[in-house]
Amino acid sequence: MTYRVGVGEDLHRVDDSRTLVLGGVIIEEGPGLAGHSDADVLLHAITDAVLGAAALGDIGQHFPPSDPRFADADSADFLRAALRLAREGGWELVNVDTTVRTERPKLATYVPHIRARIASIAGVADDAVSVKAKSGEGLDAVGRGEAMAATAVVLLTR
Ligand code: MG
Repeated sequence: MTYRVGVGEDLHRVDDSRTLVLGGVIIEEGPGLAGHSDADVLLHAITDAVLGAAALGDIGQHFPPSDPRFADADSADFLRAALRLAREGGWELVNVDTTVRTERPKLATYVPHIRARIASIAGVADDAVSVKAKSGEGLDAVGRGEAMAATAVVLLTR
């Protein structure tokens, strides 16, 4: 077996006028995030980690925000497409570990649903997906409630 690790990071500005989608789950209490697609900061980080592990570039190359086809796009499609590209190279997803940084909403009650949704999109078991939540301690853009950030690490094998 050969293994490859990949890391992905993303940051989106908070936009109260939009619906929050995190890990493919609609979170009604919001706040939403600004972005060309559905602005799912967590799926973007995971997608970049998959592309990184397979050395296939980054999410901006594959799904440029300048492309009108991706306006309000479902970011689950980005992750599915990245995994399809990785599979074409013989790579299968082993696991995903993530951290979301946000002041609000508090994510604890949503985490099981988000893990299950990511696992479903990625075609792996729920226990292959980890989602951790942290606040920004009031210090930076996340801490001031102006942005949400996500980091993801994935392992691929072939
Ligand atoms: Mg993004």
